[in-house]
Amino acid sequence: MENGEELLELIEKDERYKNAYIKAYNEIVESMPGRQQWLKDRVIPRLGDVIFMGVNKWNKAVYHVLKNPKLDDTKFRSYNVVTFGPGYWCQCYFGKFGDKRRMELCSHAGAVMLYRLIEKQLKALTVATP
Ligand SMILES: [Zn+2]
Repeated sequence: MENGEELLELIEKDERYKNAYIKAYNEIVESMPGRQQWLKDRVIPRLGDVIFMGVNKWNKAVYHVLKNPKLDDTKFRSYNVVTFGPGYWCQCYFGKFGDKRRMELCSHAGAVMLYRLIEKQLKALTVATP
């Protein structure tokens, strides 16, 4: 899969994808205690808006997260999110409250993180299945 819309469909109808989604979700809850509400309200609703764009010349994965006006995105049509070391860099870090958003991880990057963790879980499941 190359985008979140496709992924949401697969989670809906394929048990393997659903399991990977649940595992990925639990992994984030464990690594970011106290942010379940944020996950539910801001990150999960963005999963369908994630689009994988490819790998850039510095070997970083690049994603677009389409804007979601319901979640107060007004500035850009989509937000660029790039993997950066163990974390993520998002275009919104240059904007209003950018430093705060960067420190706490914004929900654009959160959605990409969830997307990538689901992919990782899927690979693990594929390897485990004989
Ligand atoms: Zn962002």
